[in-house]
Amino acid sequence: MKIGILAVQGAFAEHKSKLEKLGADCVELRKKEDLDSGFYGLVLPGGESTVQGKLLRELEMFAFLKEKIQAGLPVLATCAGLILLADHLSNDGHVYFGTMPVTVKRNAYGRQLSSFYTEEAFDGKQIPMTFIRAPQILSAGPAVRILARARGQIVAAQQAGQLVTAFHPELSHLVTIHQHFLEMVQRR
Ligand code: GLN
Repeated sequence: MKIGILAVQGAFAEHKSKLEKLGADCVELRKKEDLDSGFYGLVLPGGESTVQGKLLRELEMFAFLKEKIQAGLPVLATCAGLILLADHLSNDGHVYFGTMPVTVKRNAYGRQLSSFYTEEAFDGKQIPMTFIRAPQILSAGPAVRILARARGQIVAAQQAGQLVTAFHPELSHLVTIHQHFLEMVQRR
């Protein structure tokens, strides 16, 4: 099962090692030609959403990926990836893919709390959650399934093929989120 990992900027290598541990084949998506490699799931990693959004357009990868996501390609989007999928950003004029009906606030925890660690339930299982200059999901559309909350905020959610987290599951010692994602890919 081949998974494409957006690898233009940010924390893509950690996602790759998690998915490979679970037996997935990974391809790093760095340039337009990589999009022809035939993948059945997509990872949008954490990093800097403005940089990723800009590079996606400059490298001419944006339209292809948007079309695939709209057509139901399963996608795991973490942190900056969540920002790329959100259909509304409360403190930023940009919308990138805009395929996930959530309103997201960038860098929502401010300077003091810009990075923190906690443990909360994800789909009934307690998992570690590392937040790094994380966004908050302020609200979600009616069809969005809330999978986890931390400090009163929604931190993981899913709608059809789109699975988003505000934290960094690739930094966890567990593979819960990646497993959940691969099951989504398998089902499709
Ligand atoms: N602060 C970053 C942004 O707004 C996201 C941080 C992250 O991905 N860890 O794009």
